[in-house]
Amino acid sequence: MIIGLPKETKEDEYRVGLTPGNVHTLAERGHKVLVEAGAGAGSIISDQDYQDAGATIVAHAADAWSADLVVKVKEPTPAEYQYLRKDLMLFAYLHLASNRELAEKLLTNEVSALAYETVQIESGMLPLLMPMSEVAGRMAVQIGATYLLKTQGGRGVLMGGVPGVAPANVVILGAGAVGTNAAVVATGMGAMVTVLDINYERLKSLDDRFSGRLQTRYCDAFNVRQAVYDADLVIGAVLIPGGRTPWLVTRKMLPNMRTGSVIVDVAVDQGGCVETTRPTTHSHPVFEVDGVLHYGVTNMPGAVPRTSTFALNNQTANYVACLADEGLAALQNNQALMRGLNVYRGQVMHSAVAKAFDLPC
Ligand code: NAD
Repeated sequence: MIIGLPKETKEDEYRVGLTPGNVHTLAERGHKVLVEAGAGAGSIISDQDYQDAGATIVAHAADAWSADLVVKVKEPTPAEYQYLRKDLMLFAYLHLASNRELAEKLLTNEVSALAYETVQIESGMLPLLMPMSEVAGRMAVQIGATYLLKTQGGRGVLMGGVPGVAPANVVILGAGAVGTNAAVVATGMGAMVTVLDINYERLKSLDDRFSGRLQTRYCDAFNVRQAVYDADLVIGAVLIPGGRTPWLVTRKMLPNMRTGSVIVDVAVDQGGCVETTRPTTHSHPVFEVDGVLHYGVTNMPGAVPRTSTFALNNQTANYVACLADEGLAALQNNQALMRGLNVYRGQVMHSAVAKAFDLPC
């Protein structure tokens, strides 16, 4: 099969859909990989790296898009709609439920579109979403530590404190992938960490894993208030799959929070768990309300493309290889991949996407 790797066109997106390692695997299996010149530059992967791995470098996006299977990171932008066509298989993050225009383009052009974010294994886990939650969770603490600096508008608190002075107090709302990874970095930096969740199993697993290096609390309004009022850094990491995140921190609570404290609401992409959060960008990441700094970047992993590209590719590799080897026939024996199929022959194939547009599935 011919596989195309175009350069990402979304603003501030520096990840790339295939690493040289994955290109090498595909080439060894007898496939031809067309890489658009410069596709890996944002992740410090050169054309020569791809060539050495067995790829053919092509000059234009159109050449990469002419392949049977196009693998990329983010959804096609309007500039790329011209490449959508009937015999194309597309594998990328699509987020169609919040992008009617793209959904319609994929439907009318009869593309076979598989979304990373809906590939789901038997346990319910979303393996192609997980690596980005790991990245965002770990980043959230680094970012929080930076904005706690007085010079960045924060409270002027050092995460680990020093002998004789207390460390920063970090409160993490949600004990899933983002929350657990935030806890790893925050405890590693020597902060005092409290994690709140409504899921007992999640809290128990953190309690076992960190054996005394963090506290867990059940997430009700009383406990949230108490924890947040004493926090230097609050990390929002709650998810209700497919639904809008509940506001655990309300506007009314802000005046009682510490001046110069920081909120990193990672859950902002699903609406955020802080009432006053709104989506921000890497160019303008923070704003202040009632003396509290808010960070609400919706594509946090995009700022560490070198790490994120490899983390994502580690998980996508097997699925890409299956699609390359067998085409859509691979879906018959691979339920996880089947759940990734969002659009096929002009039909919506995923129930959540169909529900978003009130379409049959
Ligand atoms: P997850 O499903 O692994 O964890 C979510 C946790 O929230 C679960 O443990 C669940 O029990 C808990 N929860 C649900 N309702 C709750 C409530 N009312 N109170 C307390 N806890 C509650 O999800 P995740 O992978 O950790 O993702 C968390 C959020 O981060 C999602 O919204 C995800 O889209 C977002 N995210 C954002 C970025 C970004 O760049 N901003 C990157 C990756 C992930």
